[in-house]
Amino acid sequence: MSKNKSSESVKVVVRCRPLSRKEESNGPAGGIVQMDLRLGQVILRNPRAPPSEPQKTFTFDAVYDSSSKQRDLYDESVRPLIDSVLAGFNGTIFAYGQTGTGKTYTMQGLWLDPEKQGVIPNAFDHIFTHISRSQSDKQYLVRASYLEIYLEEIRDLLDPNHGNTRGLELRESPETGVYVQDLTSCVCKSIKEIEEVMNVGNQARAVGATDMNEHSSRSHALFLITVECSQPGPDGRKHIRVGRLNLVDLAGSERQAKTGVQGDRLKEAAKINLSLSALGNVISALADGRSSHVPYRDSKLTRLLQDSLGGNAKTVMVATLGPAPQHYDETLTTLRYANRAKNIQNQPRVNEDPKDALLREFQKEIARLRAQLNHRRFRSKQKKEQVDGEAWERDGDEEEEEVEEEEVEKEAEEFVKLEEQRLEKENEAIREDQFLLAEEKQKLLGENEKMMGDLRKRQEATEQLTARYKAMESKLLVGGKNIIDHTNEQQKMLEMKRQEIAEQTRREREMQQQMLIQDEEAVELRETFTSLQQEVEAKTKKLKKLYAKLQCTKAEIKDVNDEHVRSRQELEQTQNELTRELKFKYLIIENFIPPEEKNKIMNRLMFDPDEDEWKFKPLVPDESKSSQMKKRPASAVGYKRPISQYARVALSMGTRSRYRAENIMLLELDMTPPNTSALTDGEQNQSPTLNNSPTNNKGICKSRSWYQSQKSITSSSSNNSLAGCQTATPAAAM
Ligand code: ADP
Ligand code: MG
Repeated sequence: MSKNKSSESVKVVVRCRPLSRKEESNGPAGGIVQMDLRLGQVILRNPRAPPSEPQKTFTFDAVYDSSSKQRDLYDESVRPLIDSVLAGFNGTIFAYGQTGTGKTYTMQGLWLDPEKQGVIPNAFDHIFTHISRSQSDKQYLVRASYLEIYLEEIRDLLDPNHGNTRGLELRESPETGVYVQDLTSCVCKSIKEIEEVMNVGNQARAVGATDMNEHSSRSHALFLITVECSQPGPDGRKHIRVGRLNLVDLAGSERQAKTGVQGDRLKEAAKINLSLSALGNVISALADGRSSHVPYRDSKLTRLLQDSLGGNAKTVMVATLGPAPQHYDETLTTLRYANRAKNIQNQPRVNEDPKDALLREFQKEIARLRAQLNHRRFRSKQKKEQVDGEAWERDGDEEEEEVEEEEVEKEAEEFVKLEEQRLEKENEAIREDQFLLAEEKQKLLGENEKMMGDLRKRQEATEQLTARYKAMESKLLVGGKNIIDHTNEQQKMLEMKRQEIAEQTRREREMQQQMLIQDEEAVELRETFTSLQQEVEAKTKKLKKLYAKLQCTKAEIKDVNDEHVRSRQELEQTQNELTRELKFKYLIIENFIPPEEKNKIMNRLMFDPDEDEWKFKPLVPDESKSSQMKKRPASAVGYKRPISQYARVALSMGTRSRYRAENIMLLELDMTPPNTSALTDGEQNQSPTLNNSPTNNKGICKSRSWYQSQKSITSSSSNNSLAGCQTATPAAAM
């Protein structure tokens, strides 16, 4: 695997939950998972194997046993990632594991208990605390979105109508990579607001399913946080860095039992397995490092996580395990999956000054509103000074403008007040003036009233502008200002110490792991033997060790092969089921859909590579969407409807042309006199139609039945006309 200078591998941590009460009551067997926290190792015991079989050992970046605290996991494994996001990297945390092993517990935890809050609430806390403690020349904009992927459809959990609308679509842009079109994103100014967003989404998720647990174990939930930060660079210009954080709670990884599953459930199972097995394939392809093609496009989930796996993001995977012996297979699969993911290399990089930063747009809008506001105020100020008789010169310097801003605002307000008072006084004076005529008084008062109205309108507009400006500005969080930091110095110190400890633990573990590897190599090199006997002993020991290792590897190969066979069998089964369904559909098409209808449908079909599905081309081509009316066909000019050349000639010749073009036969009524021979009822019933009378060999009877049976005449003539129509259609179309 090629290692770039800037590349780093996906961090994989494993967490095992405690035995549940039900599992404890099942038997004294105890858990099958042991953990070495110092070395970051998981040791798995096979409950079905003889005790002589070696146990399986896996090493990860960190492991958390059943007594681990939420806070430990966060401080050690998640905090550095969130710090990177705040510095402008993309980051992803995803929880993977069987249903009921604690994915949701790890990601969300119990909200009401501060000790048991999961990764997401801790991340909220971390982000907003960081902002409040950063320098005041930094501006932040925090946005959140929440979506779920259910049955390969993306649903916006913050959109109240998400249940009724079709799933959202994925798009790709060179700037941002893969993104979800039209996804709601909420600007959040505080922890409370972002928690509210999370709650709304969680409720939408619960409402969407009758059985919450069932649903949640079948859908993938993604909570997305975008943190934009603007800071003046050394060049004096403001630079924006955008960090995106994906918090992913995946669907349960257990195999959906396929036998006996049908209909929607089968489809659902197939689709969950599809996106999870697509994820597995992507991880395998990336970990392998040799395959040139990574199948990101196989599912929505893998496309959304494209940046996080082998892309430009930093990624942490939390694999969750249950300790119960009955889930040995699933636990082993999860550990293998996690073990593979360790080898994925990402190339994280900071998103510096992306074009689509919302923060920049906000800043521009705020600047525009401020300019507008200042303009108004300056005008008021100017007027005031004119009234006061002072000369006023506007200073263009921006710095001073900012300093003066408050002063100007005050002065403008003062001016409005003074002006109102002046008008009031004038009104009084006019009313009291005895030399003015009543009419003139009315006129002057009216004028004053108008001026007053204008003044009020202007002030209202200014107030509205100010409100908009303030609302806009409040969305941007300024470092060290917007959020009151409740923590005192002692608490801060405590936090810092805790972080240091976490950092040290992490480093210690890394060193231990490295030492272990180096030890094995070094022992071989340094060994010198004083006697042959000693050498034999040492070599025998080594041989035993290597033999055990060989056995382990052999067992591993056998396991992997078994698993391969199993998943292959499952795939074959799915394939068989799908083939059966396909055959059934073909049968319906062949037997119940006329070939020309089928052709029409086939001609309209096209494949949409973006959506990865077949679609119908629109019936009406796009250019006809313009509101212009179609021109009348040349054959219809002067006539009510288009008419063929033949019919036109016939018309001018005066022959009866009606229906000629349509090829409908005009039959004269058959006036053969009725036959006197009597017919039995039975015969009549037996030969209701012409075609059904081969038993009737008398010609006379034939004509009689043709003449008498009303039903047969209408049906046959209608057949005629139908046939005629069909043959005439191409002619008319010409
Ligand atoms: P998942 O999301 O993987 O299906 P949950 O997170 O819903 O599983 O966990 C199932 C149950 O196990 C919950 O009742 C949860 O409280 C409990 N649980 C999971 N992990 C832990 C843990 N580390 N400590 C204590 N309880 C846990
Ligand atoms: Mg869950």
